[in-house]
This record gives sequence, C-alpha cells and structure tokens, in this order.
Amino acid sequence: MSSRVTRLAPSPTGALHLGNLRTFLINWALARRGGWRIIMRIEDLDSPRVKPGAADELLDTLRWVDLDWDGPVLVQSQEMEPCREAMRSLAGRGLVYPCELSRTEIEAAASAPHGREGELRFPSSLRPAARPGGFADDRTNWRFVVPDRIVEFEDGFAGRIARRPAIECGDFVVWTKRGQAAYQLAVVVDDARQGVTDVIRGDDLVDSAARQILLIEALQLSPQPRYVHVPLVVGPDGRRLAKRHGDTRVAQYRALGAAPERLIGLMGFWSGVIPRRALLSISEFRDAFDLATLPRGPITFTSEDDQWLRQR
Ligand code: GLU
Repeated sequence: MSSRVTRLAPSPTGALHLGNLRTFLINWALARRGGWRIIMRIEDLDSPRVKPGAADELLDTLRWVDLDWDGPVLVQSQEMEPCREAMRSLAGRGLVYPCELSRTEIEAAASAPHGREGELRFPSSLRPAARPGGFADDRTNWRFVVPDRIVEFEDGFAGRIARRPAIECGDFVVWTKRGQAAYQLAVVVDDARQGVTDVIRGDDLVDSAARQILLIEALQLSPQPRYVHVPLVVGPDGRRLAKRHGDTRVAQYRALGAAPERLIGLMGFWSGVIPRRALLSISEFRDAFDLATLPRGPITFTSEDDQWLRQR
C-alpha cells in the first residue's frame, strides 16, 4: 500500500454533471492504480449556494457508477476548529485582517479593478497598516496579506505554472462574514490535516493553487500536495459545462435508462482511453487510463455525445 492520499472534494451546490464525473473518474483511476487512499470530502462552505440534498445525490450518483472511496464521508462545515486555529496563527503574525469594504469601494480604489477573468482584485493600498494581533470571529470578512512574489510549481499534467497572486487577486478572503472559513483556507487546512499528498482537479483551479501555496507556506503546513490540474469539459460555445448547456446531469441520463458503462464509455472516449464511444466498465477505464494520453485541451460536449447517452 502506498502512503499517498488523495481526495474527491465535491461542492454540493448542484448535481453532478458530466464534467465533474470525468474529473472524479480520472482522480479515482490514478488513485486506485497507484494504491492511494481516497478521501471523500463534501465542501459545503459556500453556504448561499449549497443546495439541500445535493450532497446525498452526488454520493448516490458516484456509487451508481461504482466509484468508491475509503473511510467515512467528511463534511467540511462540521469541523471549523482547525480553520479557526489557522486564523489565530495567521492573525498572531499580522498576516490577516478584518475588512468590511464593499465590492464597490474596492473597485473604486483599484486602478485596474479586475484581475484575471473579471475577478475583483484587492489592491495592497487598501490593506490597513495596523492589523489586530488576534482573531475574533466577529462576522466580518478577513483577508490574507498576499506577498508580492511569483509562485511557481510543477503541475503533473499542466507542467510548470507561474502565477503572481498579488496582481491577479490581491489580498483574498480567508474567513467570511458568515462565520466560516473561505474555500482557500479550508482547502489547505483540511488537505494538510487529512494527510492529502495528491490533489487532482479541474484546471479552473490552477490560479487558486498558487494562492493555496502561499497559505500553505504561511501556515507551514505539510505535506505540500502534488497538483494535477486537468482540462474541463465545455459546451459547444467553449464555456465551462453548466446549466446553459441543457441538462447534463449524470442523474438525468441514469433516469433515461443509460447504464453506467455507457457513461464511463463516454468518459473513456473523452479521456484518451478508447478511440470511439463504446461501453466500458469502470475497471477497464481504471486499467487503461493514462495521463500521458489525456487530451491536452478542453473537451467539448457535443450533440453526438448526448445522443450516445440516450441510446438504449
Ligand atoms: N470543492 C471544489 C469544487 O467543487 C473543489 C476544490 C478542490 O478540489 O480543491 O470546485
């Protein structure tokens, strides 16, 4: 048994769609082939967007395709104390501060208000010089003092990555006014305490990885995970698969009578495992999957894919 640990970290903000399934299958196949442990962690901290029942549905859909994990399902919101502890540690060193500025106020202050992809950039000019030496969860947002430097890492699929978070997003939020850790903090704290060595996820999170590395360093967390960011599935318009592309929920095709092998077959076709759509078992996918032959670019979900899933 290897000592490597990975995690599947769905956000219960909606149903599992074909794009999520592909990323999870790739993660699962690499882990099972390598003998790594797989943690299932429900990331339910984005509370305004969390949908009741979505977590159970996600898990049910994954079990239906026979995708399994090891140990109990962990629910992020149920264990906030390790994140509070991290906040105390950061605050004790002046690395976080409470911030009540609104979006409009931040936009007004930033000379180039938006970083990458329209993201709001929080300029260091708005960072208070005097910062509290302790953390009080007083229902305000808290931001992390982002050092201005280039963060580099070697991604197991995407190759050498270099980002400069100070320019791309500036001081990002690590604790929210809802009284919960924000995603960036929770993910590094939980990955470290759960012993995660390998993070495999969609490449929409490449920019986040650089921010997470800054937090990992500030908190001196270990292990620092190895990252593999894989391309996303997009709709015919080139945008990330979502509701606008119709109903791409795995559960929808299941309800229409598709067998798991039909879905896995499409995933195999999309992942360089088989040259054309065909029925494929999850163990066949696992045994044949190879990161080296995973298509380099985004995968487009087409009407032929949809027709394949609807065939009986
Ligand atoms: N919960 C995140 C999502 O569903 C994934 C976070 C991660 O893998 O780091 O987008």
